[in-house]
Amino acid sequence: MKVLVNAGPWLAVPPPGYGGIENVVATLVPALRERGVEVVLASVGSSTLEVDELISVYDDGQFTELQKPYNQVMGIAHAHQARVAAELRARGDIDLVHDHVEVVGPAVLSAFGGPPVLHTLHWDLRKHPAFYGAFPPSIAVNGVSESQLARAPDALRAASLGAVYLASPLADRDVRVDRGEYLLVMGRICGLKGQHVAARICQKLGLPLVLAGPVSGRNTPAELDDVVQNPDHPLHSHPDVRYHLDQVSRYLDGDLVRWVGAVGGEARDQLYAKARAALFPIQWDEPGGTAVVEALALGVPPVGLRRGCLPEIIDHGRTGFLADSEEELAEWVLRVDEIDPEECRREARHRFSPSVMAERYLELYEAATAR
Ligand code: UDP
Repeated sequence: MKVLVNAGPWLAVPPPGYGGIENVVATLVPALRERGVEVVLASVGSSTLEVDELISVYDDGQFTELQKPYNQVMGIAHAHQARVAAELRARGDIDLVHDHVEVVGPAVLSAFGGPPVLHTLHWDLRKHPAFYGAFPPSIAVNGVSESQLARAPDALRAASLGAVYLASPLADRDVRVDRGEYLLVMGRICGLKGQHVAARICQKLGLPLVLAGPVSGRNTPAELDDVVQNPDHPLHSHPDVRYHLDQVSRYLDGDLVRWVGAVGGEARDQLYAKARAALFPIQWDEPGGTAVVEALALGVPPVGLRRGCLPEIIDHGRTGFLADSEEELAEWVLRVDEIDPEECRREARHRFSPSVMAERYLELYEAATAR
């Protein structure tokens, strides 16, 4: 079977640091290839993932262009997607397209009418109601959690082949670590992820907290400073920059609560592995939660708010804790050492490994082809 996996034009695969969809693709593709699937990756030229063929419009990830006006951003997405459609038109060897590009992805591919398409829904499905409410019926979809699909418009839910949980290659790794004392929030710094809640709790409890993640694509405190100090910078009033400035930075004291910027590769894994617990004070219905899965895989108990996909991933009391309020979250944070790290790792190996994800996608590829 030959599958064209479309990762979009925003970041290289694997991503150099932060990257949601690109991480998913980097986890899935090797496991598919181990199972004999040939993979044509549509991404950007700087992608280094081992595949049978790479096609791209842009040499490098266009992530920083997301700050541009909406129509220009759409123009980038369209150019990428049109190239994929042209490729499909020119060749007849692709059995299925596994598409991960939001909004313009399915629209362009359905207009073309080539091989069957499975589109993975990565987002909160209430974000673009007009689009998701009128999803092209020829395209099969899957979600990344049941709770995400439960919030989908009726027509989309009816067309769905089900949910496939996100996975992490860390689930297959044998990690032995000396646990540190600090708690960790790993993720984009933004209101949805709720870093300020973790900061408030840790400051109150006197517990060390590390916040890791980019602020609107700025990867270091110095990069962010350039934006903050320059009122003419196009990101100056970006909601994530304002969030960091107005709600998070007041808790940063360089000692107890620290923001270390975005981390990637081995540095990221080490930062995770040595954490005492990973906090998820989410302020939205998190659709998939790669970071939760990664924490489990490294035996770091996740503690979060009971929203979105978290209750499907965390088994309260066994592999982590779920809370209904900030006060309750603080109480569970004090009890993280009751969770057995081995239980977290077992859960990740059993439910969130790349093999589990690949097997499930192969079933869905078959179902999408049969449709
Ligand atoms: N991540 C990273 N470095 C950072 C912050 C995040 O590599 O500094 C990774 C994180 O480990 C996870 C992904 O980015 O693999 C974020 O995925 P998640 O589903 O948690 O969040 P979202 O896709 O909503 O940003």
